[in-house]
Amino acid sequence: MPTRTADRRPRLTRVDGPEELRRRCDRIRAAGLSLGLVPTMGALHAGHRQLIQRSRAECDRTVVSIFVNPTQFGPAEDFDRYPRPLDTDLAVCTELGVDLAYVPSDAVMYPEGFSTRVNPWGALAETLEGARRPGHFDGVATVVTKLLVTARPDRAYFGHKDAQQCAVVRRLAADLDTGTEIVVCPTVRDADGLALSSRNARLDAAERLQALAIPAALAAADAAFRLGERDAEAIRDLVLRRLAESPGLAVDYVAVVDAETFLPVTRMHVRCEILIAARIGRTRLIDVLTPGTDERLAVGVGG
Ligand code: AMP
Repeated sequence: MPTRTADRRPRLTRVDGPEELRRRCDRIRAAGLSLGLVPTMGALHAGHRQLIQRSRAECDRTVVSIFVNPTQFGPAEDFDRYPRPLDTDLAVCTELGVDLAYVPSDAVMYPEGFSTRVNPWGALAETLEGARRPGHFDGVATVVTKLLVTARPDRAYFGHKDAQQCAVVRRLAADLDTGTEIVVCPTVRDADGLALSSRNARLDAAERLQALAIPAALAAADAAFRLGERDAEAIRDLVLRRLAESPGLAVDYVAVVDAETFLPVTRMHVRCEILIAARIGRTRLIDVLTPGTDERLAVGVGG
């Protein structure tokens, strides 16, 4: 496989529309080079950096999309308030050696007359986030499909923090015969254990302290699992009790599910995930842990 040396690293190219993206990606493939795609909504942090670095390590060329996708936000959600520090994001892409930054406008992605929606259905897409955020996974699936169809990457990189999104996208990539390998990367956390998210910036110091109950509850569940607890309801109770110690935190759900189907389990096994969604003031946070794995919650993990 051809490898790239630092002195031959091409400069970042910004691409604004699907025709140019397709042309450039076709050229990469025609040259026999592999292509990695990292879909993002910008406001890049260390979680995104990890995905980009993984793609850079595994693929000859990397395209990062930066698009705050309106169709995955509900009417009462924070689309308008979502941060859009594009210049900083492009600087991060340059620093990390990204080849293409795809930055389409809303009008380019959803032009007048747009009337197609990719609709993942069934338990996987309709439970938990799918139930709380109607239409969310349709929006995600539609934009991810557009990106996969246009770029036709060998691999696409997603973060485990959005575990249900990972499962929906994996299903979509298989169901639609995309031929793209979906690579799921571990959750990157701040030094205090909180999973990195652009929404964390909205928490004030007191709210952030309350939010730390989320990784603490997951760590407690992980510890119990490692000590042999396999009863999913007991793990769920443990998590709920730990979260209840933070009165400023309104729990949306705590679920123990199979990682592929997202159906609740009664006995824990190695492919289970513990999911938490909670609100602190106006900020909604989600987090996840696959207990017993290398993806630990210790302070400073992933930095
Ligand atoms: P977003 O920009 O929030 O749409 O996220 C783009 C990608 O980055 C998604 O695949 C997310 O799951 C991933 N991501 C976001 N936060 C983290 C994190 N803390 N650790 C790992 N991946 C993340």
